[in-house]
Amino acid sequence: MENNKKQVLSCIQPTGDMHIGNYFGATKNWVDLQDKYECRYGIVDYHAITMPYDVKKLRINTWEMALNLLAVGIKPENLFIQSLIPEHAELGWIFNCFASFGMVSKQTQFKDKSRSSEEKSEGFISVGLFDYPVLQAADILIYRADYVPVGKDQEQHLELSRAIANRFNNQVGKEYFVMPEALYTDTPKIRSTADPTSKMSKSSGEKHYINVFSDEAKIRKQIRSAVTDTGETPEGEMSPGVENLFLLLTACGNEQAHAALMTDYVSGSLRYSDLKQTVADTLVATLAPFRERKEELKKDKKQLKNQIKYTSSQIRLRAQETLKEVKELTGLLNVKF
Ligand code: ADP
Repeated sequence: MENNKKQVLSCIQPTGDMHIGNYFGATKNWVDLQDKYECRYGIVDYHAITMPYDVKKLRINTWEMALNLLAVGIKPENLFIQSLIPEHAELGWIFNCFASFGMVSKQTQFKDKSRSSEEKSEGFISVGLFDYPVLQAADILIYRADYVPVGKDQEQHLELSRAIANRFNNQVGKEYFVMPEALYTDTPKIRSTADPTSKMSKSSGEKHYINVFSDEAKIRKQIRSAVTDTGETPEGEMSPGVENLFLLLTACGNEQAHAALMTDYVSGSLRYSDLKQTVADTLVATLAPFRERKEELKKDKKQLKNQIKYTSSQIRLRAQETLKEVKELTGLLNVKF
């Protein structure tokens, strides 16, 4: 039996690089939550195939994401790869039959993503994309997660998970699934240093994001060339670019430098070159251990893969237990061959 810690579940798609927006805005929080909760973090490759994708890159990106997550401090025993636990897909199917078509049709993320899918592949939109939130409900409920660290944009999906759990419980006549709750954490929203009017994002292109595992020279260069004045900031207000640099200091935990430079800013004596120098020093110091750990882990990729396969097999035991009970409750056959 597991201890009494509350269960946390969160997932990430295996998309190439991890940038400092992803780290400070999401994965750092994942790392911190591990001290307080029983955490499971999934690299969701079943979800990644709902949009047009490159078959040659998927597996590479999946292992790369595992490497990145371990390098920033996710404990291996908390990490799994979704397709190594096929029960997610099996429960997803069962949940299709407990999810209301009307409710799934109202998911706003589908509207945005289907537009992007259409643009990428001549009008093609997969049923998987439509069904994505039902699989997500299976990801969460299969581990009976109490909390799901999500952004506001995911609240609707969580609502659907609860609706599915509710209908399931009512239909089988047992309070089997717990209702998962959102775990909101105040995480910083990092802007692009090249265009601070927009958020840092992979989809804007390489010059718009700072890779967590970049070498020192590149990070320094990107901070040195960060846009500070966009020319549209009203008199007396801090420009988004400068605000973003100050935010990076706080995100790295360098409150002392933040306070000192803010005093200079308020008195009008701040030189942006000094601010950038401090931000670059702070960022390099924060990220260096991650890059080193990644280099270390990369030396033995076979061992890394074996480790994740093993941790996935351990996490799978819990998923299998749920599925066995779900089959009992729903009247499906439960035969061990
Ligand atoms: P991207 O926009 O680069 O494709 P994703 O949409 O894959 O990033 O986001 C992965 C996670 O990182 C999400 O939890 C998201 O909220 C977080 N995230 C992405 N960009 C930022 C950012 N600029 N600042 C803070 N958090 C971010």
